[in-house]
Parts: sequence; C-alpha cells; structure tokens
Amino acid sequence: PLPVLAVVGRPNVGKSTLVNRIIGRREAVVEDVPGVTRDRVSYPATWAGRDFTLVDTGGWEKNVEGMAARVAEQAEIAVELADAVVFVVDATVGATATDEQVVRLLRRSKRPVVLVANKVDGPRQEADATELWSLGLGEPYPVSALHGRGTGDALDAAVKLL
Ligand code: GDP
Ligand code: MG
Repeated sequence: PLPVLAVVGRPNVGKSTLVNRIIGRREAVVEDVPGVTRDRVSYPATWAGRDFTLVDTGGWEKNVEGMAARVAEQAEIAVELADAVVFVVDATVGATATDEQVVRLLRRSKRPVVLVANKVDGPRQEADATELWSLGLGEPYPVSALHGRGTGDALDAAVKLL
C-alpha cells in the first residue's frame, strides 16, 4: 500500500486549498460555506517522484459549540491512519487554543510532522510565520496555498517523512 500523508488543522486555515495544489486539480472542496468538506477525503498524489495517498480532513461545522473537540477528534483519526502529517496553521491568525490541542495529539501520535504556516501571501506575513516556532514543532514552512508561494519546499519536506 502507498504511504499516507494527512493534512490536519482547524477549519478555514487552507487545508483543502493546499490539497488542491498538491493534486493539481480543483477537486478538494474549498469551503466558503461552513461544513462543506466531507470527513477525510483521500486522493492519489505524486510529489517529487513519490506516490502517496493524501488525506484531507474537515467536515465539522465552524463556530459551533465543541468545535475544537471535533477538530481534534477528526485530526486524531486521520493522524492514526497516516505515516506523516502536514499540520496547517493560519499564520495571519497565529496559534489558537485549538491549534495547541492538535499539537498535543500530534505529540502523542509520534508521527513525523511538517508545520505549514499558511496565508503567507507576501513578505509582510513572514514574521507571523516565524512566531509559530512557539508551537514547538520545529521550523514552520511559510506558505501561500492560494498563490503557491513556498508550497514546494513544504511538500518536499513532507514527502521526505514518508
Ligand atoms: P480548510 O477549511 O482548512 O480546508 O480551508 P480552505 O482550503 O477551505 O480555505 C478557507 C479559506 O481560506 C478560503 O476562502 C481560501 O480561499 C482561503 N485561503 C486558503 N489558503 C490561503 C492563502 O494561502 N492565502 C489566503 N489569503 N487565503 C487562503
Ligand atoms: Mg477543507
């Protein structure tokens, strides 16, 4: 079986946008409407000559009570099934309590993690990305999933973990 790379993170951080960029199609549902992405959608993917299964997570509703717990729950299932994890954080928002909760479950899982600081659309957001060092997951990769900035470096690092 192919190795599995899971993309996890809070709603609206840009997971599906990043997944679309990796698979090179506009197939993963990008949410402008709450609750659009189904839970754990898998795609066959290739990056840097490596074939793998890419898992997008979502499906929980935004801004509902208990949202943080549901994010963690879905992430936990995806992470358990994964060989490596891309953890996406919105650099323009910074680390939230939900992000910290995901960090804890990633630590417990012992899976290798690449930390992606998304929505770094230009140099002005670089400093926001650097602040995510505080999550304790190593070097944050500054990325704009929307424009493609930095995504290559982050994905090179991710597939090396598979
Ligand atoms: P998900 O809920 O984590 O899967 O997030 P989505 O991929 O659905 O994206 C949520 C919103 O953030 C959409 O409006 C995207 O267009 C936007 N978005 C995603 N990536 C970026 C980015 O790199 N920069 C900016 N400015 N917006 C982004
Ligand atoms: Mg999504």
